[in-house]
Amino acid sequence: MPAPTPDDPDDSAALEALLAFDRAHVWHPYSSALTPQDPHVVESAEGVRLTLRGPDGTRREVVDAMSSWWCAIHGYRVPELDDAARAQLGRMSHVMFGGLTHEPAVGLARRLVDLAPDGLEHVFLADSGSVSVEVATKMALQWHLAAGRRRTRFFTVRGGYHGDTFSPMSVTDPEGGMHSLFRGVLPEHVFAPRPPGGLDLAPDDPATVAWERTTRALFAEHARDVAAVVVEPVLQGAGGMHVWSPYALGVLHDLAREHGALVIHDEIATGFHRTGPLWAGDRLASPPDILCVGKALTGGYLTLAAVLCTREVAEGVSRGEAGGLMHGPTFMGNPLACAVASANLDLLAARDTASEVARIERALREGLGAAAGLESVADVRTVGAVGVVELREPVRVAEVTAAALARGVWVRPFRTLVYTMPPYVTSDADLATVTTALVAAIEDVHG
Ligand SMILES: *Cc1c(COP(=O)(O)O)cnc(C)c1O
Repeated sequence: MPAPTPDDPDDSAALEALLAFDRAHVWHPYSSALTPQDPHVVESAEGVRLTLRGPDGTRREVVDAMSSWWCAIHGYRVPELDDAARAQLGRMSHVMFGGLTHEPAVGLARRLVDLAPDGLEHVFLADSGSVSVEVATKMALQWHLAAGRRRTRFFTVRGGYHGDTFSPMSVTDPEGGMHSLFRGVLPEHVFAPRPPGGLDLAPDDPATVAWERTTRALFAEHARDVAAVVVEPVLQGAGGMHVWSPYALGVLHDLAREHGALVIHDEIATGFHRTGPLWAGDRLASPPDILCVGKALTGGYLTLAAVLCTREVAEGVSRGEAGGLMHGPTFMGNPLACAVASANLDLLAARDTASEVARIERALREGLGAAAGLESVADVRTVGAVGVVELREPVRVAEVTAAALARGVWVRPFRTLVYTMPPYVTSDADLATVTTALVAAIEDVHG
């Protein structure tokens, strides 16, 4: 871990001015204009390291344990992705997608159809994860409408996260998604209890039996109105880093099939091997009807997401009165983002990503295991390249972040969770730096 270097006196005024303007004028995620935070300034990033300037001017190189909110799976300044962006800049950065098409979009769609579970062969290119969930839910509504059914509700489980625009927010956990704040505006959907925690829970596990009974009864009550089941398979990410079983996922699939509803998998966080297999839903034999991907799609370079659906859904939607899927963002199929995404997926295929993720899982399990002995820790869990330490109380975020930074690691805890989703290219030595720093930071701050 490199020692912080002394402040450069020549640029401390510029740094101060930048931070002052940021505090006075710039929103950050879920931020307050009255009590703005003191963010670190990122000067550059390379490999798995960010070069940060602290508010006091201290410059630090730290290992990124977050992959920039789970996107930068190959790290930063990846030569193959830089090249793809440069080559595409030499042709065109953007062009409209209405009435026009181009190789970057078609090439990406071809790769996605290739990678997606069987039967998902129609691709909608969206500009963010939230928009892809908007499109997926709209698709399901239009599919039913076209068949003469007015089904307007979605069935999901508590504890999920699907994005911050209204339709995704409406299927996000009612408390985590602050539904009371938006009452009257937000559509009200059907929430089953959160499935019990544990990847390997068996069908006869008592918590699973109870969950299944409640969930089946709830579904039966609303079945005539349910357009689709919407879930993050096997790992609820931003809703609480909660790992649940393929068996429970299978129950939701069965219910949807029994009652003529569609299944939407939101793999925006879990896709591209984050939990081990290429898709978290691969643990189940039955594929979804609609799949949302995002986050890691461009390797963290540019915002892009996609919705894949079956031919049956695509053709059903298109037979409706509207004559097609009623969505079309300005930046749909952005060529620059598509070119980088294709290079990212090629890199994913060229590398033995599944083995890399298995290596990371072992390192996280071993390294974070030490946290289980701490007084303040309620649970430690890992799945794929995801390591989670759950505390008994809300994390003192500023203090834990500072303690980890002092040990050379960037981490962003939330609620009671200190977690890491490192880039897949993180070396064993850097993984040890991450796990040691997280355990020590938790012990320092919470005991
Ligand atoms: C991040 C995320 C979203 C929202 O994606 P944005 O690109 O932030 O709009 C939706 N669903 C899941 C599971 C996510 O993790």
